[in-house]
This record gives sequence, C-alpha cells and structure tokens, in this order.
Amino acid sequence: MAMVETVRGPVDTDALGTTLMHEHVFVRSEEVQLNYPAGWDEDERVDDAILKLNALAKRGCQTIVDPTVIGLGRDIGRIIRVADGTSLNIIVATGLYTYNDVPFYFRYRGPHGDGLDPMAQLFIDDLTTGIAGTHVKAAFLKCAIDEPGMTPGVERVLRAVCRAHAETGAPVTVHTHPHSFTGRAVLDVLRAEKTDLSRVVLGHSGDTTALDYLSELADAGCLLGMDRFGLDVITPFEDRVGTVAAMCERGYADRMVLSHDAACHIDWFPAEVIPRFAPAWNFEHMFDDVLPALRERGVTESQIQTMLVDNPRRYFSRN
Ligand SMILES: [Zn+2]
Repeated sequence: MAMVETVRGPVDTDALGTTLMHEHVFVRSEEVQLNYPAGWDEDERVDDAILKLNALAKRGCQTIVDPTVIGLGRDIGRIIRVADGTSLNIIVATGLYTYNDVPFYFRYRGPHGDGLDPMAQLFIDDLTTGIAGTHVKAAFLKCAIDEPGMTPGVERVLRAVCRAHAETGAPVTVHTHPHSFTGRAVLDVLRAEKTDLSRVVLGHSGDTTALDYLSELADAGCLLGMDRFGLDVITPFEDRVGTVAAMCERGYADRMVLSHDAACHIDWFPAEVIPRFAPAWNFEHMFDDVLPALRERGVTESQIQTMLVDNPRRYFSRN
C-alpha cells in the first residue's frame, strides 16, 4: 500500500480519487500584505476557501494538489485551518517559485562546492520532518522556469529540487513556459540529475497547441500539466480542449493530468478584475465545461479516469 502525505496526514494513494493536480488555496504576496493589510480578513478568507473547496468536493473531486511554495505565499497554519473545514484532501508542496534570481536569503547561503545546497536541505526537511514546526509534510517539490529561461537562479532551484527528489523520492512539478519551449531545458537538467521522469509534471504544458513538442516531452516519460483550464486569456478554451483530445488520440492519456491553476483567493489581481478577464477560472469549470467538451471530442470515460485518477495516484506512489 502506497501512502501520500496530505495536510490531515498520510492517505492511501488508492483513496485519492479524482484529483486536480494544480490548484492553489491561497496565493498571497506575504510581505506586501504584512505592510498593507487592507482588504484581507483572515477568518473571512478561510471560511470562503472552505466553502469553495466543499463545493468542489460535492462535484466528485476528492483531492487537490497545491503547489504554493516560497514566492507564492505559503502559510501552512492557514492551510491547516482550511483543511480542518473540508473533506477534500489537500496535498502541499515544498520548493521555490522564481523566474529569475533566488531570494537574497539564499544568495549568501550556499551552494558549497559538491556539498548539498542548504536550500535542498530545507526542502528535504519539509518532506520528511514537517513544514514550519508543524507535523504537516510536503509530498512533492515545485519550482519554475518562465520566459527568461534557465537563469542561474532558476537552475539552482531546479537542481536543489532534483537533489531533494533523489534523497526522498518525492515527485516534482515544474512551472514551465511552453510558448518558449522551456520544457526542453528542464529535461536537460532532469536527465543530468538522473531524476525519475515518470514522477515529473511539466506544468502549464496545456498553454500550447504544439502537439509535436508535447509528444516529445511525453515520450521522454514526463507528465504534461494540462492545468490552466479557465485561463482562456492565455490560451482559448477550444484550443485547450482540442489539444487534450488530440493528445489522447495520439495515445498519451497516461501522460496528462488536468487542472485549472485556480485559487480560492489570489492577490495578484484586484478581485473585481478576475471575473472580467477569466470568467471561467474556478474549480468547477472542469466538471461544468471541460469534461463535457472532451467527451464531445471523443475522449472516453476511461481516458478521463486515467487523467484524473490513475495518473495522480501513480505520480504519488513511490516505487
Ligand atoms: Zn500555479
């Protein structure tokens, strides 16, 4: 029996059920909020998150995977409060989110020659001991690469993630920018670090319709994150759905996971703006719109089960 850590403790991976592989409970600019706290009511936001996650659970979703790490405002105490109010499993991450440099905190702390990067040790502690003095353990690793490409800071974080993966066996999720084909640069480092590619999600792959690029990454063994449904402002709905259907037709259902990259609350945008630029960007879009559209395009129930249940279970099951 394979077990995976959730906020409420270890769960049998067979019990994860329908899993959205990339959703955020909160994305917060912590230092800004600390200094300009207007507009944030802690209890109100926690209650609102519980409401939204319970509504998602009612739709048949049993688990969300939350890649909120340093750089995105991770606060495990707040997540524990939310998890206590919902039946949904919440799986949390360790790692660091940057498109360019590492935060100054890390700049003058390692890495030291061939020794373990102190950053990697922090990730390992989150995975094996618990996050910020709690008993909640991270179950996967998260980092990012975007338009600037493999900058020294981005490479340092990715290699620290790979080392923590090697040490603990925890799977990996990388935010990528598929319009500049950054998945390839990630693969080069993953291969050099001998990372198990079958336990890697290349996030936001669904932002592109470049089927040959996606096939190349899938053939390498990676999972493709078709995980921004609702962000039609980046890639239109028809393209997102069409790409998943086309990849299923090519035989890659076992290489894709589905999600929205939505949040109960994200402070990157003024709240009133989100419904205008991304009206479908919410947790229920998958069940209301995406799955019916996939079925219409010939995606079978068994392929949907593979993407929503089997692939997530496999990703979190250590071999
Ligand atoms: Zn995200």
